[in-house]
Amino acid sequence: MRYQNTYGKLDTRLYHKQPPTPLNNPRVGHFNTQVAQQLGWTEDSDLMVRWVDIVGGHYVPAEFEPLAMAYAGHQFGQWAGQLGDGRGLLMAQVLDNNDQLQDLHLKGCGLTPYSRMGDGRAVLRSTIREYLCGHALTQLDIPSSNALGFVVSDTPIRRERMEAGAALMRVADSHIRLGHVEWIASFAPDLLGEFTDYMIDTYYPECRDSEKPVLAFLQAVVERTARMIADWQLIGFAHGVMNTDNLSITGSTLDFGPFGFMERFDPAWVNNHSDHTGRYAYQNQPAIGHWNLNVWLPHFMRLTQAGVTRDSLAECLAPYEPTFMQHYQQGLCRKLGLPHQPESLKLAFEWLTLLEDNLLDYTNSFRALLGLIAPNDHPYEQQLLATMIAELDGEPLQVWQDWSARYLAQIENLSNDQVINELQTNNPVYILRNSMAQHAIDAAEQGQFEEVDRLYTLLASPYSVQDIATELDSRPPAPNAPQMPISCSS
Ligand code: AMP
Ligand code: MG
Repeated sequence: MRYQNTYGKLDTRLYHKQPPTPLNNPRVGHFNTQVAQQLGWTEDSDLMVRWVDIVGGHYVPAEFEPLAMAYAGHQFGQWAGQLGDGRGLLMAQVLDNNDQLQDLHLKGCGLTPYSRMGDGRAVLRSTIREYLCGHALTQLDIPSSNALGFVVSDTPIRRERMEAGAALMRVADSHIRLGHVEWIASFAPDLLGEFTDYMIDTYYPECRDSEKPVLAFLQAVVERTARMIADWQLIGFAHGVMNTDNLSITGSTLDFGPFGFMERFDPAWVNNHSDHTGRYAYQNQPAIGHWNLNVWLPHFMRLTQAGVTRDSLAECLAPYEPTFMQHYQQGLCRKLGLPHQPESLKLAFEWLTLLEDNLLDYTNSFRALLGLIAPNDHPYEQQLLATMIAELDGEPLQVWQDWSARYLAQIENLSNDQVINELQTNNPVYILRNSMAQHAIDAAEQGQFEEVDRLYTLLASPYSVQDIATELDSRPPAPNAPQMPISCSS
C-alpha cells in the first residue's frame, strides 16, 4: 500500500496516538475483495494474510500510525461539546489505485480518551449493518464510506443484552467531520488556519487556484453536501443521525447507525427509533443539511485574512438550495426516463403523490415502470407492476390509469432504448431493506455468515435482476406493519 499518513503530523492537540485494544479470538466475518483491490492489496501480501489480526487489533503493521481524532458536534440540534473517536482509530492514510487518498479506520477498537461513558466497542449487528450499507451505497454510486472487512469475536459486549464484539475496517476518503472544526473553534481556535489549509490541500486542492481559496473550499463543501443529500433522497435513503459529527467535509456518507432505505413511500418516515421528534425524517434531510452547514460556516469568520466575512459566508451557503434542487430534480426525471423540464417534473411529483397516498414501495414502483414500457423483455418488472396494481382499487386505480396514460404519451416522442436504459440505470432492483439486514444478522449471530456473503454479492450489482435473490429481497413490509426498532445504541 502507498502510505500517506499526514493527519498525525498536525498539532498534537488534535488527536491521541495509541494502538487498538485486541478483541478475544477474532474470526472472519466478511472480507471485501473489491476494496482490497482498490487499495492495491495482493494475495500474498502480509496485509492480506493477516487481515483478521489487523482488524481484530492483534497486529499493527509498522507503517500504520493509529490515532483517535478529537472532534465535537451538534447532536439533535444541541451543542454536545467534545466527542471524538470514542471507539474508532484512524489506522493509516493511503493512496488507492485511482490516486485517491483513503483512510483506514478501525471501528470497535476499544477505549480511547474520547470514549466518555462508552466501552469503545461495536456489536456484531451494527457492524454488519454498517458493512452492508457502505457497500450498497458505493455500488449505487452514492459517495460513501465502505469497508475492507469485519471480524466477530468472543469479547462480550453489554447492550440491552450481552452481544458479541465485532470490528470493522472502514475505508473512507476522509474522516474529517464538520464537528472537527467545531472542536477547534471551542478548544484550540489558534489551529483553525492551519487545519483549514490542511483540509484544502488534502481534499480540495483545486480551490488553491481560486482568488480566495478558503471561500472556494467552503462553497465546495456546501455543494458536495447538497449533492450527497439529493442522492440520498433519490434512492430513498435516510441517514438517521445527521448530527454535525456524522457529516464528512468531503460530502461522502459516513457513520451508519439507525439508517434505513425507504420501503413504502412515506416522506415523514423516521427509521431511527430514538428520534422522537422526527428531526431526521427522510423529508427533513435536505433542510438539516442546510442547518448543519449554517452552524458550521460562522466558525470561519476568524479567518479574516483569507477574506472571510459574514456576507461572503452567506454567499458560500447560498448555492446549497439550487444545487440540491438541480441535482434532485434532474435525478427524478432520469428515474422516469424523461428530459429535465417542467412537464416531466409535474408528472414526477404526481407519481410521488400516488406512491405516498397508497403507501407503495418506493424502489419496486419505480422499477415497475419497465414492466409498463417493455413488459416482454422485463418479466421481473412485469410482476412488480402486477403486484403494485393489485394494491390499488377504486379511485387510486383510476389515478394510476390516468397517470400511466399521460406518462406513456410523454415518452412516445423519445427513443425507447434510451428511456429503458435510464429506467434500468437509475432505479435499483435491490436496496438493503431492514428485513434483509436483520435476516443476515440473525444467521451471523449463530455463526453463519453465508447470508452476509449473499447480500454482499446481491448488492454489488443492485441494478440487475439476479438468480441469487430471494422473495425477501424485493418484498416491502405489509402496509402499516409495525416498524422494526433501529436505535443509536450499538
Ligand atoms: P455515533 O452516534 O455512533 O455517531 O457516536 C457519537 C459519539 O459517541 C462518537 O464520538 C462516538 O465515538 C461515541 N460512541 C458511540 N458509541 C460508543 C461506544 N460504544 N464507546 C465509546 N464511544 C462511543
Ligand atoms: Mg458518529
